[in-house]
Amino acid sequence: MAESVHAVPFTTLLDLLRDAYGQPRRSRRLAPVDELVLTILSQNTSDVNTDRAYASLRARFATWEDVAAADPADVVDAIRSGGLANQKGPRIQAVLRELMDEPGGLDLEPLAGLAVDEALGRLTALPGVGKKTGSCVLLFSLNRPVMPVDTHILRIARRLGLVPERATAGETHELLTRITPPERMLEAHLLLIRHGRETCRARTPLCEQCPLLPHCPTGRSRVPGTNG
Ligand code: SF4
Repeated sequence: MAESVHAVPFTTLLDLLRDAYGQPRRSRRLAPVDELVLTILSQNTSDVNTDRAYASLRARFATWEDVAAADPADVVDAIRSGGLANQKGPRIQAVLRELMDEPGGLDLEPLAGLAVDEALGRLTALPGVGKKTGSCVLLFSLNRPVMPVDTHILRIARRLGLVPERATAGETHELLTRITPPERMLEAHLLLIRHGRETCRARTPLCEQCPLLPHCPTGRSRVPGTNG
């Protein structure tokens, strides 16, 4: 398991991000099965394309049962604007069908009553559902304290030295879930995503204007006069 060797508490870094970006707000809260489908649709595409594909899917089919039973080509067609439709369509149908075969069906609310690891295990047992997707459902829909790790968050955690340079998304998920206060999990996730999009960008991180610069070994190695 990856261990953080950071000298500054993670909550201090969160405070700095909150001071810079403000308190983040998540505008909507979906039912967990809705969030599950939305998150599958969001894989490797933008929020705009995700929302467009999700709206199209909801408009085309009255219920998730209808999606599960539909001709695969119709589902693919409905979500085409989201990209990778030929992969995501069958995946969504497979997930829905598998859930419908289980005792609770498409109602995932009971997962809120399980231990986080058990709930995540149930979700990641579904076809094509990884830790990030499962964590999104638990955090966003069921308010469970678990950190979804996408490419932004993995990159930031590595650059900050919270995890080793070669740490996996899974290792980073475990570390961040452990060091983030449960009541700040959603806030932390949203702040890190925003930081990755606006400042700690993949190709050109804006270290000179980063509020975390004094605590970031990567930034200090890039900005003259800050490493010592
Ligand atoms: S100092 Fe640079 S590398 Fe470090 S977190 Fe900020 S933007 Fe990212």
